[in-house]
Amino acid sequence: MGNKILLHTCCAPCSGAIIEYMLKNGMEPTIYYCNPNIYPFEEYLVRKNECTRYAQSLGLQIVDADWNHESWRTCVKGMENEPERGVRCLECFRMRLLSAARYAHENGFTVFTSTLDSSRWKRHDQIVEAGQWAAAQFPGLKFDDRNWRQGGLQERRGQIVKEQNFYNQRYCGCEFSMQILKDDKKMTRQRIRMLIAAMTAERKLEQSDAIWKRFEETELFKNATGILIYWSMPDEVQTPAFIDRWAGKKNFYLPSIQDDDLVVKRYTGQSGLVDGAQFGIPEPDGPRVTDLSHIGLVIVPGRAFDREGHRLGRGRGFYDRLLPQLAHAVKAGVCFDCQILPAVPVEDNDIKMDVII
Ligand code: SF4
Repeated sequence: MGNKILLHTCCAPCSGAIIEYMLKNGMEPTIYYCNPNIYPFEEYLVRKNECTRYAQSLGLQIVDADWNHESWRTCVKGMENEPERGVRCLECFRMRLLSAARYAHENGFTVFTSTLDSSRWKRHDQIVEAGQWAAAQFPGLKFDDRNWRQGGLQERRGQIVKEQNFYNQRYCGCEFSMQILKDDKKMTRQRIRMLIAAMTAERKLEQSDAIWKRFEETELFKNATGILIYWSMPDEVQTPAFIDRWAGKKNFYLPSIQDDDLVVKRYTGQSGLVDGAQFGIPEPDGPRVTDLSHIGLVIVPGRAFDREGHRLGRGRGFYDRLLPQLAHAVKAGVCFDCQILPAVPVEDNDIKMDVII
């Protein structure tokens, strides 16, 4: 039991080389996953799932310390605008390492350490300060403060990321560190696809319900009569319950794919839907509507949006070709929280949304 060590783990890429080193050098790591700083929740799930997959492949125990982002926000209150590697990061390390220290103390560990040190985003001196402070709260506990980037571990880190095909995050973790995201369209779509895949069907329905309830309270929705919406795919904000709730009071229209374009058709109820020829997405079986002047509101799905109203679609350009025909209508983008980014990669001809629901 002398070589037992608790390893606070921030993510799989930062853990690989350290775990390998420990196993080769007679240590017995238990993985402690405590990262309430990560935002949004789906990003947290993706990172945790990668750690779990790796730990289990090596037969290591992983302890899930759960995600309480609200308490993390309270912990860094007043430091939101601090730069990365500043005092907010020190507080963030203290909170996570204190949790690890407590678990170590309560579960018979005398030493703990963290993979935080392996990341180029972090300051070694801050991690040492936070780790030693956390250890000092519990008698007999020691923080192993070695620099885990040295001794070839930094190079090995990169190799293991490739070997294991780890999800390699693009920002440190919290919402404030997302500002540095400068992904291109392809990378953004890949990342969003993983985040949505981490959501359960129940969570998607819950979030969809909350989105529509909020939207129903707006003047925009209350005043709208003709609404072009979409019939949702499993990875989109879910629309069927919302459409059915309002179908008797509003005139809904749905897109229908014809060759490379979307055309508009009137929604007459679920019994009037047929599976679309290209993707199997339900669409009305009736005639195409060519006079779009009655449509005052367009609800547009997307892969990602930013607060400026920029939209990133799936890459087929369907809405880019349809929306110019609806220049008179208000365009409302709709997405899950995890699809809202600080900035979306855009081009000059991309059409901005007037509002994000
Ligand atoms: S930038 Fe990283 S270390 Fe700093 S507060 Fe955010 S998540 Fe924590």
